[in-house]
Amino acid sequence: METRKFDLKGKRPLIISGPCSAETEEQTLETCRRLAATGAVDVLRAGIWKPRTKPGSFEGVGLPGLSWMAEAKKETGLPIATEVANAKHVEGALEFGVDLLWIGARTTVNPFSVQDIADALRGVDVPVLVKNPMNPDLDLWMGAVQRLQKVGIEKVGLIHRGFSSFGLSKYRNNPMWPLAIEMKMRMPDVPMIGDPSHITGKRELLKEVAQECADLNYDGLIMESHICPDKAWSDAAQQVVPEELAELVRSIVWRKPQV
Ligand code: PEP
Ligand code: MN
Repeated sequence: METRKFDLKGKRPLIISGPCSAETEEQTLETCRRLAATGAVDVLRAGIWKPRTKPGSFEGVGLPGLSWMAEAKKETGLPIATEVANAKHVEGALEFGVDLLWIGARTTVNPFSVQDIADALRGVDVPVLVKNPMNPDLDLWMGAVQRLQKVGIEKVGLIHRGFSSFGLSKYRNNPMWPLAIEMKMRMPDVPMIGDPSHITGKRELLKEVAQECADLNYDGLIMESHICPDKAWSDAAQQVVPEELAELVRSIVWRKPQV
């Protein structure tokens, strides 16, 4: 099946969804199949290499997960996305035909890692989304985008996933909306995608935050989905089953015209 095209700054908001982590072949494929069947998703996501805060947590299945994602793409025709944190990840992802890469919040903080990724992407035409760093430092976020732009990557986007605030917020990561607005003003041509899953950390709050992203005219959303959310190996409390994800997406009122 031919892979569907997608646009970071298209007429319609871009919806990216899939499990936090690819865990098993069945879980990855079933989640992707059910998401595709809803028709509400443009790009499938799954984490293959998981940068966890503490050692001893599940750190991702690595390359086998990419072959499951490649199979999901073949079956559904939807493009696939994964997180990269170094040049070796980039190499692996490109080998498996990943269509969209993102840099995680724990990597954006490190200019050496971002530069390593940028250098590995020199001359490659693949869109890259940059999550905000863990800490509320807009210069660091901008610097990561600029490192990618400097090697000639034209399709670069931002992901607002909230900022670490040591539990002083009802959210897992405080959205600090004014900072995201300021970032949109600083880089008006760079699309902004909202990440309600990592902002909220809880499925009950997803809808409210997703709507806030739409109210701010974001260019899309990235949200986690799992066939059995409570049993997820990472980020269990913030995931929802594919059908619930689709219902949530359909309930959002966008300022952008829906075509
Ligand atoms: C993720 O997208 O699963 C992830 C690890 O996100 P973040 O880098 O925002 O913590
Ligand atoms: Mn996650």
